[in-house]
Amino acid sequence: MNQTEKLIIIGGGPAGLAAALYASRAMLNPLVIEGLPAGGQLTLTSEVENYPGFPEGVLGPDLIKRFRDQAQKFGTRYITENVVSVKKDELFTVTISNGQTLQSRAVLVATGADAKWLGLESEQRLRGKGVSACATCDGFFFKDKEIAVVGGGDSAMEEATFLTRFASKVTIIHRRNEFRASKFMIEKAKNNPKIEFIVNAQVVEVLGENSVEGLRLEVVSGDGMKDEKVLNVQGLFLAIGHIPTTSFLKDTGVLLDEKGYIYNSDRVALEKHTDISDQFDFGFRYATNIKGLFAAGDCTDYEYRQAGTAIGMGIAAELEIEKYLNRN
Ligand code: NAP
Repeated sequence: MNQTEKLIIIGGGPAGLAAALYASRAMLNPLVIEGLPAGGQLTLTSEVENYPGFPEGVLGPDLIKRFRDQAQKFGTRYITENVVSVKKDELFTVTISNGQTLQSRAVLVATGADAKWLGLESEQRLRGKGVSACATCDGFFFKDKEIAVVGGGDSAMEEATFLTRFASKVTIIHRRNEFRASKFMIEKAKNNPKIEFIVNAQVVEVLGENSVEGLRLEVVSGDGMKDEKVLNVQGLFLAIGHIPTTSFLKDTGVLLDEKGYIYNSDRVALEKHTDISDQFDFGFRYATNIKGLFAAGDCTDYEYRQAGTAIGMGIAAELEIEKYLNRN
């Protein structure tokens, strides 16, 4: 028979590891199921220049290793497997990909999200070499360069506007001629003299061997004819959405929004979701609608998606879990 854990943390990115550090120092002896591959989105980035405390920058995988080692030093244990399901009876039963089942009194879901990519071979080959899905992280590398942003939602407008701080010109490429973004964000981008738009267009190839030299586009004209066009840019930013890692929760009864992001009590209060608010205990922040199950980081947050903000949420959620375990 397995021992009953006090706290299982699902996810070994910044939110999960920060929560693990605090939980181990609070003597909760946390068990982190860190996922395969471990470490989350930061392990896929190279230089991180906007993480406080590292004026010289730090490599994403090194930063994760530091978080991980620090939590381990205080007693955090790790299992490098994916979680298959979470069920709640009196205790939580967490089933992992090797078939093992684990029991816990509380669970923190901090599984993050993945950026959506176009799925082109050339795009994947040039990731980190001019192709990025995070303007906040990588915009600084494109001083006085011409770049393109793909997408027609708020992220595309916001990232394009942000990137004009560095780039000499930003072209927004959108596959339709209507935008999903809010009017305000579209107007802001349209009024920016550095931003141009190409609509009804898809990127079909990223050009360049070791760095981005241009994009091959397929553009549909007014009469429905397809045409090819090469756009000379040195950078490509994808802003076509993110996919939160929450599908393993589908039988748990956790309330997710239409894109799969988890509703926690903080989010429900902030966004005033009155239709579901009766299912949440607002006595605990970061609590989902399932008692004892908390959620923090990018799996609940479609807006900021930064290591620093995920860490803040992870720590706050852990402090709430301590309160929960003391009361129950
Ligand atoms: P989104 O609203 O889902 O928009 C994604 C965009 O990417 C859409 O325009 C979509 O085109 C396009 N797209 C998707 N797959 C594509 C593909 N394979 N090829 C080409 N284009 C593709 O995602 P988001 O912009 O990241 O926003 C997510 C949420 O965060 C939204 O609720 C948004 O309002 C919010 N947000 C808010 C702010 C803010 O208020 N400050 C900032 C950022 C995000 P179609 O339109 O044709 O589907």
